Order: sequence, then C-alpha cells, then structure tokens
Amino acid sequence: MHEALRRRGVVVRGVVQGVGFRPFVYRLALEEGLAGFVGNDTDGVTIEIEGPEERVEAFLDRLQFEAPPLSRIDSVVVRELALVEDSGFHIVASEVLGRVSTGIPADAATCPDCLRELLDSSDRRYRYPFLNCTNCGPRFTITRRIPYDRPQTSMAKFPMCPECQREYDDPLNRRFHAQPNACWECGPRTWMAGADGIEISSADDAVAACIDRLVAGQIMAIKGIGGFHLSVDATNQAAVMRLRERKRRYGKPLAMMVRDMEAARQVCVLTAEEEALLMTPARSIVLARRRAGCGIAEGVAPGIPWLGVYLPYAPLQHLLFADARVRALVMTSANLSEEPIAIDNDEARARLGGIADGFLMHDREILQRCDDSVAAVVDGAPQLVRRARGFVPMGVELPFDAPPMLAVGGHLKNVFALARGRFAYQSQHLGDLENLTGLEFFRESLEHLMRTFEIEPRTVVHDLHPGYLSTQWAREWAKERGLQTIAVQHHHAHVAGCMAEHGLTGNVIGLALDGTGYGSDGKIWGGEVLIANLAGFERFAHLEYVPMPGGEAAIKEPWRMALGHLRAAGFDVESDELLKLVGATEKEARVLMRMMERGVNTPLTSSLGRLFDAVAAVVLGRRVVDYEAQAAIELEGIAVDEPDDVPVYAMEFVGGNWDTQEPARINVTPLWHELVEDLRNNVSKARIAARFHAGVAAAFVRASVLAREATGVNRVALSGGCMHNRRLARLLRAKLEAEGFEVYQHRNVSPGDGGLSYGQVAVAMAMLTKQS
Ligand SMILES: [Zn+2]
Ligand SMILES: [Zn+2]
Ligand SMILES: [Zn+2]
Repeated sequence: MHEALRRRGVVVRGVVQGVGFRPFVYRLALEEGLAGFVGNDTDGVTIEIEGPEERVEAFLDRLQFEAPPLSRIDSVVVRELALVEDSGFHIVASEVLGRVSTGIPADAATCPDCLRELLDSSDRRYRYPFLNCTNCGPRFTITRRIPYDRPQTSMAKFPMCPECQREYDDPLNRRFHAQPNACWECGPRTWMAGADGIEISSADDAVAACIDRLVAGQIMAIKGIGGFHLSVDATNQAAVMRLRERKRRYGKPLAMMVRDMEAARQVCVLTAEEEALLMTPARSIVLARRRAGCGIAEGVAPGIPWLGVYLPYAPLQHLLFADARVRALVMTSANLSEEPIAIDNDEARARLGGIADGFLMHDREILQRCDDSVAAVVDGAPQLVRRARGFVPMGVELPFDAPPMLAVGGHLKNVFALARGRFAYQSQHLGDLENLTGLEFFRESLEHLMRTFEIEPRTVVHDLHPGYLSTQWAREWAKERGLQTIAVQHHHAHVAGCMAEHGLTGNVIGLALDGTGYGSDGKIWGGEVLIANLAGFERFAHLEYVPMPGGEAAIKEPWRMALGHLRAAGFDVESDELLKLVGATEKEARVLMRMMERGVNTPLTSSLGRLFDAVAAVVLGRRVVDYEAQAAIELEGIAVDEPDDVPVYAMEFVGGNWDTQEPARINVTPLWHELVEDLRNNVSKARIAARFHAGVAAAFVRASVLAREATGVNRVALSGGCMHNRRLARLLRAKLEAEGFEVYQHRNVSPGDGGLSYGQVAVAMAMLTKQS
C-alpha cells in the first residue's frame, strides 16, 4: 500500500540569505527523504518538497525549530502543489527563481564550532586568524557590491585551495558557500609592524609579538572586522593614560574586551539580560556595572560606575586572549577624537603613526567602515545605543510601506536611513558631521547602501534645522536630482521612531527628552511633551525656556547653563555663594549676565539635557565636558546606589490651554531652590542626584496625566537622548505604569540622535501615503 504523497511550496521570509539557510534546508530534506529543491529568490527562500505526508509535516516543523543560528524567520507561507514525482533534492542557482537577491548579511562573531577548531592543535585551521563558516564571519564589511558572492568581496584575491573549495561546494559541509572561507594554505595572512609601519614579523609570530608588546604596556593598532582598534592592557593605568594623551580623548569611556563570560563576570556585575546581550552574534559593547576591586585601570572609564565591556568576535582577537597574560584589553576605534575609524593599512599607518607603538596588520581588505555597536540593558530589556557592526545592513520594520526615500538624520552621531516597502535600512554609525572627513564617510556609505539595496530615493528627508550640514547637503543633493524634500522637526522624529518601532499608529503622548533640537518656533527644544501621530504633532507642554548663554559653548561648558538656570530661578548669581556653586569667576559671571540681559548669542532652550548639565555643574562641579552628555552620565552615575523612591524636587506647571493650542510650561524654579537648600545642608551628592532624577520623572508623568485628561490618549512613547539614562527610563516607566499608561521605549533603534533617521522615515512615510 502506498502512503499518501504530498507536494508543498514553501516561501520563507526574514534573514534567510547568506546565513546557511539553503544547506540547512538541503540537509533537512535529505534526512526526511524528500524530493524537490531550494533556492534564494528576491527577498527570501523558496522551497518545494515532495514525499509522504508525515515526512513533509516533520520537515515543516523542523524548518522553524532548527533554523541556523544567524537566521531570523519572519514568515513561512505554505501552499499545496500538484505532484511532480521528481527524484532527489537540489539546491538551485538563484537566477532560476528570478531576480537575484539583494541582501548582504551583517557581520557575525566567530561561532563555537570555529572557535573549537581555532584552538584545536590537530585541526588544519589551528590558530588560523581568518577561519569562519556559514554560521559566522565577516559579511557586510568585506563586500563591495551585490550579489553577495566571493568575487564581490575582498576575498576575491584569495583563490581557494582544493580543500577549501571542496568544503565550499559540499552542501553538507558547514562551509558550503561560506564566501570568506579560507585556511593557512590559501587565505589572508597577518604580520606585525613597528611604529613606522614596516613589517617586523609575520604569521603566528605576529600575534605573539603583539601580545608581548601589549603586556609591556605598548599601544597597538590592531586590524579588526570593521576597522582598526587601538589597544592597550586595560589593567595598566599608565598605558591607558598614554593612549588617552595620544588619541586626545580625555574623559570619554574606552571600550574594553575580555576573554570570555567568566572574565566579564570578574570585572562587571552582570544580570542575566546583560550576559545574554554580551553573547549575541553582534557582540556589542555592553554597558555594565563595574565590580569593585576588579583591577581594571581607573582611566578606562573615569568618574562613572560602568564599564563598556565586550567579548572577542574575530579569530584574531580570540588568539590574543588565548595567552594567559592577556586579561582585559582596551579596544577603542582607531581614530583621532571624532574622526571616522581607520580601515585601510596605508590609512592606518598615516593616521595612527603618532599614536600606535606598533601595528598588527592583515591583508584582507575592509571595504566598509563599521564601528562596534553599543548596547545596554535599560529597564530590563536590551536597548541599542549605537547600531553598527553586527546590525548593518539589517532592516528595521516600518508600520506600513514606504516609498523609496533617504533620510539623512541629524548632526551629531549621524546615521542615515534608506527605506523602501516595509523596511528602513539604517547606515552604520557615521559619527559627527562637523567636518569634511565625516561628510566623506557619509557619501561613501550612502553610495554603497544605495547600490546594495538598489534603492533610488524619490524623496529626501532632513531635519528642520537650517544650519545642519546634513540639511544643507540633503537640499543640494535633492536639487541636483530633482527630488522632493521633507523637513521633519527633530523631536517629532524621535517620537515617531519609537512609535514605528512598535508598529503604533494613531495618537500617542510623546515625551521627547533630549539634548538639543531645532523647534518649530526657531528656539532650541529638548524637554517636550507632544501629542503626536506619525504624520504630525502638537506641542502639549515643555520645560520653561531658559537662556543658553554662548549658544553652542554652553553645551561644552555646563557652568554657563548653571548660571542661566540659576538666574532664571531668581538667584543672585553674582553673589559669592553662587559663584562658588557654579564654579565661575566674578568676571565670567559679569560677562554672561551682560550677554543674557542684551540677548546676545543667547538662544532660548527648553532642553532637558541642558538642565541635567546645569545640575551636574552645580552638584559635581563639572565646569566643562570632554564629550557629549558627560555631565548627565556622571550625574546618573553618582546616584547609582540610591533608592528610586526618594522625595522629589518640585516643578511647577504654568499656563497651558489645549483648546487654544497654548502649551503648558514646566517651570524648574522650585527645583533649584530645594536643590540649593540641600547643598547648603550638606545633603550627599548621590541623594541630590537621585532626588533630581525623581523630580524630572514626576514632572513628566504629571504632564502625561494632564495630556491624557485633555486628549484621552493613554499611550506614552519615550524618546530622545536622555532616554539612554537608565535611572530616568526606569523611573518613568514605573510611574507611568502606576498611572495606568501603556509605555513604549526604543529597543532596536537608538533613542538618541543615532535613531533620528529612522524616525524621519516614519514621518515622511506617513505624510506621503496619507496614513498616520
Ligand atoms: Zn563558524
Ligand atoms: Zn584553503
Ligand atoms: Zn535629539
């Protein structure tokens, strides 16, 4: 008797190309004894299987549950087909199923199988610094153009040896179609160079020589996956300080790599969520609590209780840590202050010559610059702080289809986004668009991603700020091509990004708690309560405007903001007590007073970030900052051991009439008087910082309640750079939920300006398609 035969067509969507999905399907079909074929199509994998019904069902179950580690299945559509009675199972060439796929996968950390081989003296790839397989290895950063095939990658110049070729051709091998497949025989090689960039030793000796130098306290430039790192022994304070000196980076925390999870636990106190985050294939830098007495040099992250820690993701890095003397290494992007990361050997020699004592180089070209990603566990779940290596060029879903467009993002921490259909593709973190190198990197990446996704934008979206380099560039670029432009208000983009990430449409209460962004009234916004949908917004309330004496200078010198705030709160800022509090001289105060009185170079701001700065200047004596948001980060840091439920500092609601569209103003005068009183009474800095955080949270929860009373909206979307502040994020969610609100926070897109372009896409998509 014959078992009933079935033929099914299966279409799998998601991240299923370049991640070993076809060989996985092939193996599965062989194991279940099914006939048919598998192939890539335009944006997924198409399968046909034929065999006994039970076997077909088993195949479909296993397809979902045993999928390869780097894949992500978004949908599986199955349909019944007529029997063909073919025999055997085949992997068909992409072209057979129509247009060639356009996807390039993201880079992924060395997998456990490869790591085992790397450290196994009997394996033919023992200690080979470039081993990889379909489950791991570089992808995006070594690819010049689509399709993602070896000739289009920087592996093209390394013809595979017969043994590697055999693996590459065998569908049952872990290295089937692993484009960067290589070995000692045929692949890239490493070498060590001195400070002058001239080769001193090669092959395995190079790694050993590099380790010797690191152990001796030298600064090494090490070529990685997305660029060079500058590295020193993270337990050696003198070496760390020398690196800071040479890199001209004085305060900003340095990322640090440790051998494995055990080593990570020794330097940081980790939650289960943080451990899981450390282990993701993207191997992001994770911000976690430093363990007391962990032996890491103070200079790695001065003045804050966290370390940016991550695990090795490239075989070369695993080899460095295979030496017992190497415990923790600073691994920071190789650049001078905020320039783009160096990727090319010659470029590294030229730009890092004065910084590095030596170079660990290799001859596999990096074709796309890509910094390490940064993530943190915020309020119990991971949140991306900087979306780069391991995520680019993966798309982030949109609530509905977008016409092809480019959104250029903001000014600092720039990231642009290309969109088409259901997805927005954010670029890697490009850094600050303040100079020509930054703009060059922007152009380079844009060209590459446009090619990769074959997206020809018909609309260019930019920030409302007329002075941003990104705005000017966008207008010019659009003009040359005859494209339409759309300007999106900064904080609307922040809120829309959070909405889009959660698929929200309709109205929300948007809390945009941020540094600075250009407002619709030409003033500088950043402490905003918006009633927003994807297409538009009304301003419900905002922090009361205060002067920002010196404009941009007030961002770098928080004492200026402190003076502006205290004056607005009615203090005599020229009194001895206040001068001391602010850390200003009499003359400085006088100059600023005159500026404010005459309104010269003194824009008005409602920014929460600037309020954090002002409070940090007074409480911590943080007169100037070395990096953006330093003052606020230190203020959060000092409160880290304080309880959440401390008495709040008060803020006052002034005016506001929803019917006449007059926003309410949140006045911080009472807060300043209570805070100064606490300082006079020698209340601890930690307690003051905690009361401040609690006060901010309480004020914006109160604003949300008022907004709900006026509009009936019960959903709150949290966004803006201040939402990186974990204490604030936690307090806001808890208090909002206690009031019965539905609360949404960013997860896969940064709440800061790195996420802006995604929000710009969401707004423009809604405007263009007349949906919201
Ligand atoms: Zn692998
Ligand atoms: Zn080989
Ligand atoms: Zn912003």
